[in-house]
Amino acid sequence: MRRLRRTRIIATLGPASQDDETVARLFEAGADVFRVNMSHSTHDMLRERITQIRRLENRFKRPIGILADLQGPKLRVGTFAEGAVMLEKGAHFTFDSDETPGTVARVYLPHPEILRPLEVGHQVLLDDGKIRLRVVSETATSAETVVEVGGKLSNRKGVSLPDTIIPVSAMTEKDRSDLDAALNAGVDWIALSFVQRPDDVAEVKKVARGRALVMAKLEKPQAIERLDEIMEASDALMVARGDLGVEMPLEKVPGIQKRITRLARRLGKPVVVATQMLESMITSPVPTRAEVSDVSTAIFEGADAIMLSAESAAGQYPIEAVTMMNRIAEEVETDVNYQPVLAGQRASPESTGADAIAAAARQIAETIDTHAIVAWTSSGATALRIARERPRTPIIVLTPAIETARRMALVWGTHAIVESDPRNSGDMVNRASRAVQHEDFATVGDRIIVVAGVPFGTPGATNMIRIAYVS
Ligand code: PEP
Repeated sequence: MRRLRRTRIIATLGPASQDDETVARLFEAGADVFRVNMSHSTHDMLRERITQIRRLENRFKRPIGILADLQGPKLRVGTFAEGAVMLEKGAHFTFDSDETPGTVARVYLPHPEILRPLEVGHQVLLDDGKIRLRVVSETATSAETVVEVGGKLSNRKGVSLPDTIIPVSAMTEKDRSDLDAALNAGVDWIALSFVQRPDDVAEVKKVARGRALVMAKLEKPQAIERLDEIMEASDALMVARGDLGVEMPLEKVPGIQKRITRLARRLGKPVVVATQMLESMITSPVPTRAEVSDVSTAIFEGADAIMLSAESAAGQYPIEAVTMMNRIAEEVETDVNYQPVLAGQRASPESTGADAIAAAARQIAETIDTHAIVAWTSSGATALRIARERPRTPIIVLTPAIETARRMALVWGTHAIVESDPRNSGDMVNRASRAVQHEDFATVGDRIIVVAGVPFGTPGATNMIRIAYVS
């Protein structure tokens, strides 16, 4: 099975995408990576999801990426007796330390540390800022608010406090235990929420020890101030527009998205654009024109991946949402302006052997008619540097490590296949040639470009490029 598009699709799993058949249909519709949001998952649920996705891998014989998204120091309300309540403008609503399920008058706030610094007059924003409350009285264990902008508030929705300074550490106790569970269960990517400093990312990496790669979710003004350092410290980035648009003025989000995607492309780190991409498809089978345009913008920027959240996790049309993203990506990527726009934002190669070869591979692909760039790689680093060039031809990643193949599911333009290291350079070309035919990328007589590091299996030794005929 091969995808025609370069931009990858991440689908968040949830109650609307529970059973094997729905997840299989999401994959068939175009999902390359599945996201498990630890804010809404127990460890048992996470393990079940991973087993389910690995079963799917066996069925479709394609590596599939799994992204476990750690909640981070995100503040959330507790749960409600009825699952949700309607907050009306002018009504009073209290946050407290009482663990019993909430009502229309109160809810448990499971963060004692934020009840203390809340002061009269401070704003409390709920559910990505859709609901706005203001504190009218407070004690050490409760805060009474008045509803300024009402709406439906359901279980565990996010809380933002733009006026309140709260003492938060990088990873909460829950994150540590979720991270352990995710690593033991064998996820491929870990996303860390509310990153504020490079050390936050370093802390997760120290625990992960290469068992999974680490993606920093950029959603705090503090992270935007230290963008370069955080991006340098991370394996990948997510423009987490939901919380970013709450923590910062909404009108700043598009510019920040451009800054992040461009810098990520310069660094050669995968970048994901997330949240509200097809929001109206939670309840409608057809998106708005503006949503289609937003998804297209991310694709034109050369984002590695575009992400669905509630659309695939809790919406009424999860399959349709993935299908729509797939259609938009296929259309944009064949648009006459797509290649020129990508090329316009391409950064020069860094002064390394790997970048010299990656740039050469792209140039060869633009000079003569070639059907694929085949990269032999153990860690995936060579493939990332080739993807950084955003070449016109597909990048076929041959790797002995299934973990690498799964991680590549997030990377622009790649199609990964598990292959043991070749015995010699003849074997390297022969097997590349067989792989591109088997996966329908080329036929006998077509030309391909083969890139590798010799001796094989030595990480970081990309030093060989060859033009070969498929035979
Ligand atoms: C976001 O805030 O945009 C995001 C992706 O994070 P979450 O879904 O955890 O709110």
